[in-house]
Amino acid sequence: METAKERIDILIDAALYYSSIDDKLSDDQARLAKRIAMRVRIRLPYSIKQLFCRQCKEFIIPGKSSRIRLGRSNTKCIRISCYRCGHIYRKLISA
Ligand SMILES: [Zn+2]
Repeated sequence: METAKERIDILIDAALYYSSIDDKLSDDQARLAKRIAMRVRIRLPYSIKQLFCRQCKEFIIPGKSSRIRLGRSNTKCIRISCYRCGHIYRKLISA
């Protein structure tokens, strides 16, 4: 029997796959993955968490519905902008 975590991984993979084919289906898969995570109370790994906007909570795909840019050379951070709600947030990256 597959675990909740495996199901989430599969759903996120599917969401990323469908993102170039069918936006709605992609969103549905992503929302379902998030619901499972909340229900079983597991923390999503950062690689998955960064696919959801912190403000509008929507599924955002780097290069499609979000933009990830490196900050200025002396500040070790990345900026993630959500195209859906316009929210921009920074994440420090440890060198
Ligand atoms: Zn957003």
